[in-house]
This record gives sequence, C-alpha cells and structure tokens, in this order.
Amino acid sequence: MRTIIEPFKIKSVEPIHFTTAEERAVLLKEAHYNPFLLRSRDVIIDLLTDSGTGAMSSEQWAGVMRGDESYAGSDSFFRFEAAVRDLTHMPFIIPVHQGRAAEKILFTIKGGIGKYVVSNTLFDTTRANIEFSGALGVDLLTTASKDPSVPAPFKGNMDTERLREFIQEKGAENISLIIMTVTNNSGGGQPVSMANIREVKSICLEYKIPFFIDACRFAENCYFIQQREPEFKDKTVKEIAQELFSYADGCTMSAKKDAFANIGGFLAVHDQQLAEECRNLLIITEGFPTYGGLSGRDLEAIAIGLKEIVEEDYLKYRIRSIEYIGEKLDEFQVPYLKPTGGHALYLDAKAFLPHIPAHEFPGQALCAALYLEGGIRGVEIGSVMFGEHAQQELVRLAIPRRTYTQSHMDYLTEVIIAVFEKRSNVSGMKMVYQTPFLRHFTAKFELVK
Ligand SMILES: *Cc1c(COP(=O)(O)O)cnc(C)c1O
Repeated sequence: MRTIIEPFKIKSVEPIHFTTAEERAVLLKEAHYNPFLLRSRDVIIDLLTDSGTGAMSSEQWAGVMRGDESYAGSDSFFRFEAAVRDLTHMPFIIPVHQGRAAEKILFTIKGGIGKYVVSNTLFDTTRANIEFSGALGVDLLTTASKDPSVPAPFKGNMDTERLREFIQEKGAENISLIIMTVTNNSGGGQPVSMANIREVKSICLEYKIPFFIDACRFAENCYFIQQREPEFKDKTVKEIAQELFSYADGCTMSAKKDAFANIGGFLAVHDQQLAEECRNLLIITEGFPTYGGLSGRDLEAIAIGLKEIVEEDYLKYRIRSIEYIGEKLDEFQVPYLKPTGGHALYLDAKAFLPHIPAHEFPGQALCAALYLEGGIRGVEIGSVMFGEHAQQELVRLAIPRRTYTQSHMDYLTEVIIAVFEKRSNVSGMKMVYQTPFLRHFTAKFELVK
C-alpha cells in the first residue's frame, strides 16, 4: 500500500519558533510546570488541543469574505442553519460562541440540585457546567474500555446494563438527560458504535429520558463506524452521521472540532418549548438567535467546514496519521491508549512513569518532560483534570486538523521515544495552586524533590 498523503496543498504558512532545551527549562519553570501557562511562541509542536487550531480551507476563507454581518436575519445564519440541519434534521438550531456556551444554556435549564446527567464520559467543560447547576454528572463507560493496553473497536461505548441499574436506583424522573460524547474525548478519542447508540436510545425511550449527543467529533466517530461496524461499510460518513443524529432529541457541538472553525458551536433540539427557553438564555449572554455570539464570517466558516469534514479522503488521512504515530511507538513498546483515537494519541502516563503515584500527577510530569525534551505541548487528562473522578492517567497529544505534516509527526515520535528511554529520571509534581472549577487550566506545580 502506498503512503496516504495529506489531501491538501499548503497555501499559507505560519513559522515555528525554535527553542533550546536550556531555554525551555527556564520557560517551563516560569509557567509553573503547567503547559496552559506557556506562551505559544515558545512551543515547537502544539498538541495542547485540536480545538480551534485547525487550518481553514481556501473555501472557508472565501466564506469569511462573504460573511453577512447583519445583526438579525443574516444570510450567513441561514447557510449555517441549513448545513447543521442537513446533518441533524433538527428543527431548532441555535448558534453559540463555543461548545461550553451550549452546555451552559442546556444545563441551566435541564440541570439543578437533585438531578443527574449520565454519559459514557463527560468532557471537562460539560461536567463543570452540570455541576455548576447543582446537578451531578455520572460516567458509565464499559469496563472493557478502562484498560488502556487492550484494544477494542468501540471503547467509547456506554455500559447499558449499569445504565439500567442507575436509572432504577435514582429514578428516571431525576435523570435530566443522557448525553453520549462522540468520540469520547476524555476516554481516548474512542468511538461509540451505532449499536450502542441504538441501545441507549431505546432505554431512553423506555424510561422517557431525553437523549442528547455531544457531537464535537461526530465525523471522526462516523468514520470509525463505517470502518468497524460491518452494517455500515457501504454507507457514506454523511449518511451514518444522519442516522446517528436521528436518534437524538438534541445535541451540543463545538465547531472548533469537527467543523474546522477557529471559534463557534451550536445547540440543536427537536423540542420547541426547550428551544424557546434556550433562546431566552442565549439572548442574555450570547446574542440574538441568528448570530449567538458569532460573527457572520464565523457562521460561514462553520457551514463550509461541516461539509468538508464528512469528506472521506480527509477522514482516512486524519485517522491514519494518528495510527501512524502509534505504530512508531509500538516499535519501542511505549505505552499508549490502544487503539489510537480519532483526534489524538493518549500516552498512558501510569504505565510510562510507574514510579510516580497518582497524587504526584504522572500525566503532568510526562507533559513537562515532553516539553523539555522537544518543545512538545500536550495536556494531562487524569488526576489534575478530574481529581477523584479520574479513571486513568493520560497525556493527550491532540492533533490539530490539517495543520502539521508527516515530518512533524516523525519528530514527535522521536521526542516521545527519547523521553521514554530516560523515563526513570522524570520526577513527580506537587500542586501548589488551584481554582474550584476546571483547575487544570490555571493550576501551578512544583517538582517533588
Ligand atoms: C471541546 C469539547 C467541548 C467544549 O467545547 P468548547 O468549544 O471548548 O467550549 C465539549 N465536549 C467535548 C467532547 C469537547 O471535546
């Protein structure tokens, strides 16, 4: 088989600023060993997130110029709405400035003290918005998904047996909704199967609980369904996405992920009453319902991005480029979450640094080591991000869409392998400052002596 090449040419470039190991040692200490506190110019390969960091296409940039900046009833809104509706078939589509704004609105209405929101795995902002409303967020991932070393095709699936038990224990009336995260970002970018979606949906129908999708990476998830679930091998990714959304009563989406936009998102629902309540909140914090915190040019970029994201040459290259990193790491038995995910490779920090206990944050320590070694910026997904909810100690290396080339990925694997070879020298971390919500963004650390 020939090399699967990047399905694009480069039209505009952004220079990378190089640093030396000595400079990075100083810069990381000044950033209190938290990669979020580094300046981006001091990072060589930035894998902090795939959110809003993708490269827009020439068509999207043309759309930016076409943006209609009218306050109300802008043409750009109607193009955006048509693109979202084409995939979701939902009647009420509400633009927001990013995914968490959709979550804030949804959970202000559906959350509250005494309520539960059940998921395969809630993303950090989703959990924060649920808990800020007074409700509790519950993750019911299948047990098989929790062993990072054992590959399985759909490690994002929800444990439906435990879901039934949970509903019976807490009472269906106390569960405000069930939300499936596709792909499961915090659990390794792992996909959810259509079979699992159908099963969860039927439980939702049985108990009359609304079923929502956190759709940030719907296209990557649907590509995995096409590749791994035999029933779907002859369907297009778009058709699969349409089926996926057909089961949902609503969805939240960050357009910074699978819509190739630098900002934006939406909330879409079937229920008119709920849509009205959402719009009432929208207008207080985000804006008028035809722009919701976005400019017309952003709405255009999203509308075009939603069409480009389901192109299968792109998805094939996307998923393959992450598998490629995994294959290189396999040669050195570097532990990572298997199989590789849709948008990221997750190093298994617990197995990588077995001498560092969870309370000394092995993921944070590994992030620091990758930066020191080669200017790579990743993010801890473990005890720093989730506290006692952490199920694994991972370092996510999120790959921005259409941004880096194969030689950047080769350099990345060289740096990971270099750190792996001297892993016994990596020291644990002590958290010396934290905030009550989403503490990982601003926490400060010191080395454990
Ligand atoms: C990024 C993300 C969000 C939040 O979206 P923002 O645009 O960052 O506010 C919610 N859920 C998942 C799964 C995400 O990856």
